[in-house]
Amino acid sequence: MARWDFFVVVDFEATCQEKGRIYPQEIIEFPAVLVDAATGSLVSAFRTYVRPRHHPQLTAFCKELTGIEQSQVDGGVGLGEALAKLDAWLVAAGVARNRLAVVTWGDWDCKTMLESECRFKGIPKPEYFDRWVNLRIPFEAAFGPGRRNLQEAVKEAGLQWVGRLHCGLDDARNTAYLLVEVMRRGVAISITGSLAPALAPKEEGGEAPPQPQPQAQRVGLNLGMWAGGAGALPCCCFCGVASRCGVMMAPGPMQGRCFYGCGNCTPPFGPMCPFFAWAA
Ligand SMILES: [Zn+2]
Repeated sequence: MARWDFFVVVDFEATCQEKGRIYPQEIIEFPAVLVDAATGSLVSAFRTYVRPRHHPQLTAFCKELTGIEQSQVDGGVGLGEALAKLDAWLVAAGVARNRLAVVTWGDWDCKTMLESECRFKGIPKPEYFDRWVNLRIPFEAAFGPGRRNLQEAVKEAGLQWVGRLHCGLDDARNTAYLLVEVMRRGVAISITGSLAPALAPKEEGGEAPPQPQPQAQRVGLNLGMWAGGAGALPCCCFCGVASRCGVMMAPGPMQGRCFYGCGNCTPPFGPMCPFFAWAA
């Protein structure tokens, strides 16, 4: 019996600017395309726009790149609601949660974007997003190694690009057609990446990547305030890792106070993101 009944192809669009990364980056378009794993037919499509909390105003660059309009994100839902809507859509389509595999082009969508945003906002996400198929890997099995973007891969596979580049739903559709083509060429589709169990580690077996430091997490939950505001649990910095404790050294009224900063901060490179919160 096949391992999966369905593939759920996703491709997030997120806030961005022309130069440098926006922190914290947030998902603004949440699309998904449902593919029947047995027949390779595209069954259904889903999309919701997501209202960014930290940078609610899209940059001109972002609107131009994605084709997303300000009014669409203004009318969007929160990320937690987007996840719930997607889950309801899967249930309505008769998809069993343990019989689906999430498929993306690259690892960014599940490993970086969704995971970090859910962590710094304290939003639980369905477990099926904790493992995924990076289509680059089976694609390379069919077409040979090499770095190509989605559009180049579609062309190389002899397919026609459909829709608008960097429109999340169109990107997801093209990824879905590419998946079907890779399957048609006889390449087996299997999970290529996964996350460690989230904050509460489970008893199940399997190799888990290193966990965030429990100390920083526990203290982080007691914070009275944080730089980003608005009801989130500040256990993680914008990178999605446990924030790190430091002591204010600079002279002034706050000297000697503890604060939390980027968990990816290292002496040679400094912080990777601008997360900052005073300890309560
Ligand atoms: Zn960070």
